[in-house]
Amino acid sequence: MSQVITGIHHITAIASAAQKNLEFYGGVLALKLIKKTVNFDAPEVYHLYYGDAAGNPGSILTFFPYEGLVGGRHGKGMLNTTSFSVALSALDFWLKRFDKYNISYKKPQQRFDDELVVYFEDMDGLGLELIFNSRDTRLAAKPGVVPPEYAIKGFYSVEIWLEGYERTAGLLTEQLDHKLVAEKGNRFRFAANEQPGSYIDLLCSPDSLKGLAGSGTVHHIAFSTPNANTQAEARLRIVKRMLNPTPVLDRNYFTSIYFREPGGVLFEIATAGPGFTIDEDLETLGERLMLPAQFEPDREQLEKVLAPISLNKHNYT
Ligand code: ZN
Repeated sequence: MSQVITGIHHITAIASAAQKNLEFYGGVLALKLIKKTVNFDAPEVYHLYYGDAAGNPGSILTFFPYEGLVGGRHGKGMLNTTSFSVALSALDFWLKRFDKYNISYKKPQQRFDDELVVYFEDMDGLGLELIFNSRDTRLAAKPGVVPPEYAIKGFYSVEIWLEGYERTAGLLTEQLDHKLVAEKGNRFRFAANEQPGSYIDLLCSPDSLKGLAGSGTVHHIAFSTPNANTQAEARLRIVKRMLNPTPVLDRNYFTSIYFREPGGVLFEIATAGPGFTIDEDLETLGERLMLPAQFEPDREQLEKVLAPISLNKHNYT
């Protein structure tokens, strides 16, 4: 059977302040804001997309910033940690950068071989890691404020906490083309390909509290599928597993289906194309508020509701 899922497409999280979100991800972490649009299901809220220079699947972290929203809680049934890949030689650079911007972090720890992990959180408490490794052969995005040899290359892995991992593991391996590639203690690592960027770590944590939605939590993870045909095949598999997927929804930059996995995390399957250059040039990605056709007539009204956000790059050299 052909592979219909090729890895992680994007991760979407909830924030409490758009401007601060931009300063942290665009400034401190030096990701590129590749799309400034609205939540298609609630257009009075921004939808901010960060990624590499071209917004390639596997690099995209997105946020719904609900101004002033109360914080959620990490716990079971949630994707609690999103991990970025950086070169092993970048450790000193990033620890100094965190000190410079008063970002607290945990002491570097070895996880699997050749992985040095530094845990930190954004201002809403979203769980993040930098994983310093020499295994990732991807090149970082084009030069920005961070020298390319130290820049974030994209995702490395994600961590999902579960009561028990078996049913989610079954979904990943039987319907979503993943394989078990490593395990240690209560951590079971699955991947659609063996490269950094597609690792899904399931953690058995029956003793932890149940996660609660709110700012600083992940809303969903999207897996990448090559095209509409493979998406239809994936949808059929999810139907057969009785997980009740949504119909195919048009997200402008990709089409999507959504369903909840047995452990409680919202999963999405998104097409690799048409991509973020469908309505903006590569060079000017993220500069203008982009609206899908159905909201274009409301642009004036929406621009009043959505407070302007901007990044002064000189503050983040
Ligand atoms: Zn999504």
